[in-house]
Amino acid sequence: MKILVINAGSSSLKYQLIDMETESVLAKGLCERIGIDGHLKHTPLIGGKPVFDEDLAMPTHSEAIAAVIDKLTSAEYGVVASMKEIDAVGHRVVHGGEKFASSVKIDDAVMAALEECIPFAPLHNPANITGIEACRKVMGDVPMVAVFDTAFHQTMPGKAYMYAIPYEYYQNDGIRRYGFHGTSHRYVSARCAELMGKPIEELKLISCHMGNGSSICAIDGGKCVDTSMGFTPLVGLPMGTRCGDLDSGVIQFIMNKYGIGIDEMLNILNKKSGVLGVSGVSSDFRDLDAAAAEGNDRAQLALDMFHYWVAKVAGSYVAAMNGVDAIIFTAGVGENSKSSRAAIAEYFGYLGVTIDPEANAKRGEDIMISTPDSKVKVFVIPTNEELVIARDTKAICG
Ligand code: AMP
Repeated sequence: MKILVINAGSSSLKYQLIDMETESVLAKGLCERIGIDGHLKHTPLIGGKPVFDEDLAMPTHSEAIAAVIDKLTSAEYGVVASMKEIDAVGHRVVHGGEKFASSVKIDDAVMAALEECIPFAPLHNPANITGIEACRKVMGDVPMVAVFDTAFHQTMPGKAYMYAIPYEYYQNDGIRRYGFHGTSHRYVSARCAELMGKPIEELKLISCHMGNGSSICAIDGGKCVDTSMGFTPLVGLPMGTRCGDLDSGVIQFIMNKYGIGIDEMLNILNKKSGVLGVSGVSSDFRDLDAAAAEGNDRAQLALDMFHYWVAKVAGSYVAAMNGVDAIIFTAGVGENSKSSRAAIAEYFGYLGVTIDPEANAKRGEDIMISTPDSKVKVFVIPTNEELVIARDTKAICG
């Protein structure tokens, strides 16, 4: 069975074609500048085929999907003979609200329910829906599945997902913590249980997804019991450019003092804050590490804040679960930055965590970076959201 995994943004579309016999990626690629001019980078990973990396007109997502199918099936760049070989499509959808606690086969009723979730993610869900519609148009009745970033977090208890504001806002409008990165937290926690050789039902895990966007998840017995992102992905940890937790009084103060409207304020909190805002250097942790090494105090402060927040939130989840068996680092920073991992692990001394510096220096593989006698184990597990989407699609359509 071959499954096409699609992650559609407003002007971009990422894809992977995965052979489920071996769970190997046959080809991957990225359409960019959809609706502007259009560019496709298509990388076949089998058969020694060349990379296609050129401008291509893409007025809408339909032309983008058509270009992807064309390349996947072409003699020069293709990895399958025809579209018939693509058995199903898995779509990443950011927000499933309270309607979707697991992945679902797409039909007209699901499309209508996805539309109803748009107010929760007005930037992301319309793009995801456009991607699904374009695929249905170009690929006809190939079965399709929606996999939600929020679904894994639907097991949170009310005490974790409710905000302490008038109950009517939850009841009437669905205002509550939803959480994001669920597909990633689900993948790494399941993989961690495999690596530990224990049933996930018997484990208390804390998963730290640290990338440009970052969130932490408390997973008790395989189920999410709390997570740091909320109604939107803006809160929790300070991130590349997002502010993380912030006293809402600060928003009122800045808006009043500088005569800023809510759209501009949210743009500042989403795009100009986080480690970029504090350091004034960059949102990229490689740049921050380099600047801090040259004595830039604000870059060091931004890094210190990030590490402190990861430790602080993870610590609160140890309390929430009354213990922890393993802590997992994943995503861009979690998988690549040994200095950030080491700095965060320093805070976990009270848990009896000890890190093996040699293991911590390795990259690109699932690895335990704590010493064998460490009371709580620490793992680096490269995330693979596409594989989860493909596996769910196979389970539902296969
Ligand atoms: P992601 O959102 O998971 O793709 O992560 C992207 C982020 O990972 C980048 O913005 C960097 O901050 C970070 N990153 C990637 N490689 C490294 C590295 N070698 N050292 C530190 N941070 C890294």
